[in-house]
Amino acid sequence: MKTAIITSDTSDKHNTGLGHPENADRISAVTEGLRKISNKNIIWKKNKVFDSKYLEITHTKKYINDVETSFPKKGLIFLDGDTIVSPGSKKATLDAVGSIVTAIDGVQNKEFHNAFCAVRPPGHHAEKNKAMGFCIYNNVAVGAHYLLEKYKFNKVAIIDFDVHHGNGTQDIFYDNKKVLYISTHQYPYYPGSGGEKEKGKHNNIFNIPLPAGTTSEEYLNAYEFVLKRIEEFKPEFILFSAGFDAHKDDPLAQLQLTSKDFYDLTKRTLNLAKLYCEGKVVSILEGGYDLKALQESTEMHVSALLEFN
Ligand SMILES: [Zn+2]
Repeated sequence: MKTAIITSDTSDKHNTGLGHPENADRISAVTEGLRKISNKNIIWKKNKVFDSKYLEITHTKKYINDVETSFPKKGLIFLDGDTIVSPGSKKATLDAVGSIVTAIDGVQNKEFHNAFCAVRPPGHHAEKNKAMGFCIYNNVAVGAHYLLEKYKFNKVAIIDFDVHHGNGTQDIFYDNKKVLYISTHQYPYYPGSGGEKEKGKHNNIFNIPLPAGTTSEEYLNAYEFVLKRIEEFKPEFILFSAGFDAHKDDPLAQLQLTSKDFYDLTKRTLNLAKLYCEGKVVSILEGGYDLKALQESTEMHVSALLEFN
């Protein structure tokens, strides 16, 4: 069985302006690293177009309309203080969503066993009706809705190991008992949400706030709590909101993970995925802003995905 890397032709056309940490070099670094993994079980695929009705389950129609009319003909426009769009963002945002839909279809059709979507812009800060923190559409949330609606799953787990809390994903699934959302993140920190008391209407949200300076060992101990929640929930499909900015070299946060830690957490999660959901896992890139750390960490993450095979 194979692991797919899904990319889009438009990720690099989403221009966020000079000096912005969330820029096209991130995808070049990731794909360059992944191309170095020599394994015949990797397949590279491009995103396909998807039915926009799944976007409309995730975001309000007004928000989608506001976003679609915001893209400038030239230059840059700010959707919030740090979320910037350019003419090329129009297609890049839809292709990022399309990548997770393509990945899910490939797993369901048994074309490959699991997948990593190396695309941008990221998505986990985007709420039902708000762009935020470099995120415009919430890619992983559309993926979860797609699993519920198209494939009629009843239990989807989203594991978010980005160093920032995925306030958008939490907002979208706060009262949806079919979706388990678990986030490990630096706290208190941007975006401010993600305290332990935020549990969702059906106890379907678990936040694991971690102080600045958290080490590998402390993080992996805390990750045991994530694994226990997966064991209790017994998901039919697992989605990763895969941010790599908890790395010790990341300029935007202060957790102390090494690249290898991303292998370990992925491997441990996959062991449970094999038990509960035939190893069905789709992962999508969120943050990660030190290019070397991002490259190494995504190689580790994908190496663990490949070991399912
Ligand atoms: Zn982040």
